[in-house]
Amino acid sequence: MLLPKFDFHEPSTIAEACQIMAEYGQKARLIAGGTDLMVNMKKKVLSPEHLVSLARIDELKNADSSGDVVKIGACFTVAELAESEMIRNKLGALNTGARALGSPLIRNLATIGGNIGTARPAADLPPSLMVYDAKVVLKNSSGERSVSLNDFFKGPGLTEIQPDEILTEIIVDRSLPHSGAGYINLGIRKAQDCNLVNVASFIALDAPDGVIQTARVVMGCVGPVHLRATSAEKILIGEKPSDSLFAKAGDAAMGDCTPIDDFRGSAKYKKAMVGVLTKRTLGIAYKEVTNDA
Ligand SMILES: Cc1cc2nc3c(=O)[nH]c(=O)nc-3n(C[C@H](O)[C@H](O)[C@H](O)COP(=O)(O)OP(=O)(O)OC[C@H]3O[C@@H](n4cnc5c(N)ncnc54)[C@H](O)[C@@H]3O)c2cc1C
Repeated sequence: MLLPKFDFHEPSTIAEACQIMAEYGQKARLIAGGTDLMVNMKKKVLSPEHLVSLARIDELKNADSSGDVVKIGACFTVAELAESEMIRNKLGALNTGARALGSPLIRNLATIGGNIGTARPAADLPPSLMVYDAKVVLKNSSGERSVSLNDFFKGPGLTEIQPDEILTEIIVDRSLPHSGAGYINLGIRKAQDCNLVNVASFIALDAPDGVIQTARVVMGCVGPVHLRATSAEKILIGEKPSDSLFAKAGDAAMGDCTPIDDFRGSAKYKKAMVGVLTKRTLGIAYKEVTNDA
């Protein structure tokens, strides 16, 4: 399968990339690792006239934390997320998602910005980023804005990003004390497979042995975008963590999702797995709280 013809641009700064995007708009497409885009171009699903590579922009390749705030450049690779001690310590659920993504070859090229940019409801990184309440920075030639990832996805392949904008950074504030998160993905095979269901959960307690003050549960593959399990979250708030509470939240999450039957699995099975994974990820999140206490 041959690639369609395109002009290739390799800016070395964000400002230069923004200028190119402003000039070509809908005719251009950003390329980071290319692990998703190249497949779509070979299949002729996408045929942009201009490809704007982010690979030479060093400002997009860093991740650091200062106090409780973690900043991750859009071109930080999935392999780097999987290997980074800082990410493992501060954002354990994201680290788990990165380790689950694809194969070593894919992880070496794939970037966090590209994973978000695909807007695939089965993608591995958005659920944990959403439960951490991550914000993304979108830049264009006239400025920048910050958008919560919880408001970012509009449908399969559709996001809040405008044609002239670049996602430059992901920002997570981990200042809530007594908090933890968990992520689990389920596929038919253990690797190199599209997820069947994936769930991330986050809880924060009001005291080390207190009640749940903040709860976020995000489910993937069971709707047109990653979905918040709002009924499950309501059940958790104000309660002391326990296995029976987590099971109740899991049951509620099953009612919050809208899976479809497809060749990967039946809607009924996916719903049941949402219940199981919600309960288990809440258990992982609570373990993190108690380990840090
Ligand atoms: C064999 C194989 C296995 C895979 N396994 C998994 C898996 O297990 N889990 C999973 O989640 N994904 C998987 N993928 C999909 C893909 O590898 C990931 O989604 C990856 O993170 C995409 O990142 P990338 O840098 O390669 O994105 P690219 O392909 O470069 O870009 C993807 C999309 O995002 C846009 N984009 C990229 N960067 C930016 C930016 N900074 N700002 C705005 N838009 C941007 C692009 O224009 C494009 O539309 C797999 C792919 C393959 C080929």
